[in-house]
Amino acid sequence: MKINNSLPPFEVMEKMPAKDRQKVLDEQLKWLASYAYEKSPANRARFDKAKITPSKVAGIRDLEDLPPLRKDELVDLYKANPPLGGLVTVPITELERVYVSPGPIYDPHHSSETFWQRHVYLVKSVGFGKNDIVVNTWMYNLVPAGLMIDEALRRAGATVIPTGVGNTELQVQVMHQLRATGFAGSTGFFMNIITKAEEMGLDIRKDFNLRLAVIGGEMGGGPIRKTVEEKYGIATGDMYGTADVGLIAFECSAKNGMHIAEGVILEMISYETGKPVEPGEVGEIVVTPIDEIYPLIRFGTGDLAGLIDEPCPCGRTSPRITRLLGRVGDAVRTRGMFIHPRQLEPAMAKFPQVAQYQAVVTRPGTRDDLTLKVELKTEEGIDREKLANELNQVVSEALRIKVDKVDFVAKGVIPEWHKLIVDERVY
Ligand SMILES: [Zn+2]
Repeated sequence: MKINNSLPPFEVMEKMPAKDRQKVLDEQLKWLASYAYEKSPANRARFDKAKITPSKVAGIRDLEDLPPLRKDELVDLYKANPPLGGLVTVPITELERVYVSPGPIYDPHHSSETFWQRHVYLVKSVGFGKNDIVVNTWMYNLVPAGLMIDEALRRAGATVIPTGVGNTELQVQVMHQLRATGFAGSTGFFMNIITKAEEMGLDIRKDFNLRLAVIGGEMGGGPIRKTVEEKYGIATGDMYGTADVGLIAFECSAKNGMHIAEGVILEMISYETGKPVEPGEVGEIVVTPIDEIYPLIRFGTGDLAGLIDEPCPCGRTSPRITRLLGRVGDAVRTRGMFIHPRQLEPAMAKFPQVAQYQAVVTRPGTRDDLTLKVELKTEEGIDREKLANELNQVVSEALRIKVDKVDFVAKGVIPEWHKLIVDERVY
């Protein structure tokens, strides 16, 4: 079968009316379904089991009965059918690298044009380009993050300094001496480097040449990013991806949600019913990248977000997703009800005086106890009792179960990176 994977240039696609983009993606999916059926035995088995004939696939709706492929299934496939689980369409010797993610799950690094077209477009869209010197602190061994972003940056014309993880002091020195303009890595690590630089007596604004930090991939980084932008004068950006699929979405200059990269079909489905959710509702991100070498058709990421279906001021017509709101497994069953970060977050957003919060489920006797821990931005002018009552009412309503206690805690008790709902029950 002829490889027919040419997508229009993404600079053209990103301005297409939704209908036209849909048409392009439908055609690509139609082709990919047949190609994967022929070349990837694991996908063929999935189609056969779901009784789907690939030649009849005309769009993503025709795959509604194909259950999303999940990470634990990947682990089983790689174990049962070495070396590559019957998933990859070429022999292992055709691959450039094989990454090893926890599981183990083996992710192929390959030369598929559609894959790199997407990745180069994405790092350019987030703001990196020809005149950038980027310190890439993602992990370079085993998992794909470091090398994948490295290669995308290089193909986008940037100069990469592959520092990888750790060595905070050396990172500071390198960034300073080489006049790095960009940073790629986790938010937490970026803040470590900034703190270290200040300890070393450097002035971030004067002694550094950093203009853009693409930090994130994590939940709840909003306040830190604000600090980076306002205090240090460094623009921030965000990208979303998974080890298996690569990069999926990016934040544009409007900084209101992340655009879905061209060349990826993204569905948002209910993790309870498997059906598509309405725009504005939270669902699990399920993706089908147009990638003929590693065809992950309907890959269930386990990440929860919402779809934004409004036009973006940046002019791109691609739909956007909200930042990540949690993982599918984050729901905690409490007194018979599933409570989820997606319910808690919008409720707590109504309280600007709160710096951090966390709901904790315990079981002191035979009944689940729900405590809301709250860290205030300032004590000044706060009537604690009144605020506790308001919090209790709003959060109980949002979670649909009664909060037992609102507990004001000191600054630092709730760690910077934390789950919004924790289960501390011991049975
Ligand atoms: Zn935009």
